[in-house]
Amino acid sequence: MNNRQLFLSHLAQTTDFPLMIEIEKAEGVYMYGPGEKKYLDLISGIGVSNVGHRHPKVLTAIQEQLDKYLHLMVYGEYVQSPQTKLAKALTDTLPEHLDNVYLVNSGSEAVEGALKLAKRYTNRREIISCVNAYHGSSHGSLSVGGNEIFKRAYRPLLPGIRNVTYGSFYQLSEITTDTAAVIIETIQGEAGIKVACSNYFQALRKRCDETGTLLILDEIQAGFGRTGKFWAFEHFGIVPDILVCAKGMGGGMPIGAFIANKEVMGAFKNNPLLGHITTFGGHPVSAAASLATIKIIQEENLLDQVEIKAELFKKLLKHPKIKGIRNKGLMMAVEFESFDVLKPIIDLAIEKGVITDWFLFCDDAMRIAPPLIITEEQIHEACTVILAAIDEVN
Ligand code: PMP
Repeated sequence: MNNRQLFLSHLAQTTDFPLMIEIEKAEGVYMYGPGEKKYLDLISGIGVSNVGHRHPKVLTAIQEQLDKYLHLMVYGEYVQSPQTKLAKALTDTLPEHLDNVYLVNSGSEAVEGALKLAKRYTNRREIISCVNAYHGSSHGSLSVGGNEIFKRAYRPLLPGIRNVTYGSFYQLSEITTDTAAVIIETIQGEAGIKVACSNYFQALRKRCDETGTLLILDEIQAGFGRTGKFWAFEHFGIVPDILVCAKGMGGGMPIGAFIANKEVMGAFKNNPLLGHITTFGGHPVSAAASLATIKIIQEENLLDQVEIKAELFKKLLKHPKIKGIRNKGLMMAVEFESFDVLKPIIDLAIEKGVITDWFLFCDDAMRIAPPLIITEEQIHEACTVILAAIDEVN
């Protein structure tokens, strides 16, 4: 059996439309398949490869850590310098009060930890989240998701969760002194890149302060430079009580975190009640890769160019079939009339060597989220292929 046959026979599938692209190597913004096939990656593994695939400094950090140790002990027991250095580097990117980092394995686990922490700190049980939010696929993170179709098969989920409309001022009154936390994606990703305004975030922050509710910002997709600021909340003049991140954090390695101040995080230390335990969370190899990733974003000034590159995409992607483009930096959704119009365009673009896809809860928009290192020339190359695919399909 060849690799594609093995993929279909033995690898569990979770979608009716796997992209099924065979990749043998990836470097920078490119991926390579069998027989010299070369692809320009416009999705970065859904916002993961922000510094590009196999960035040399990430590889060096991984190699250096491989020479020292792999896993040692359940998270939080031994002093491991990749973890401590990473925690310091992360807090240096953040407002002063966000000074305590809990390292985990993934986005979903970071959300789980943040929700548990909010319940523990406030002693309240109600959580408010948004319609069409995506916070992960584990039971807790799915419970705060905002898409009923995805949740239906798994009910009963966590009790005490209510969805409000992202960006709705009117529904802020739903937040009361019974609410432990509001969890919200700063930029809604899987909803197809929805961006609320600064006034909304400021009103949300105010309402949380008035009611003693913790504000959890999910920047799993929007963080680590994706929007042109290191953290997306920097665009809106607010700060969260708990920040969750993952994806781009590891430069291609699995790692996530939830971050709060010492007082809030301290709620987990109250023995004998269990806080959050994770065996592999903050794996030293991933932590070393993450530390290198932060340095790359800072030292290579990746944030400076994000807006210019996004504008170039928007300038070039003009076509009667394109209904509009929503974006915050290089987190972009290109709207088409329907999935039926979009799907063959994506398939043809892939055939021509440019990889894009669609969104979980928005299948009539094309996802564009390239590595931040993409050059202007590569953006021209990508847009030429997408426009040709649109013309050829129609
Ligand atoms: N939150 C957001 C905003 C996400 O985009 C994702 C992943 N798409 C998650 C949470 C879950 O992350 P993971 O897949 O690492 O569990």
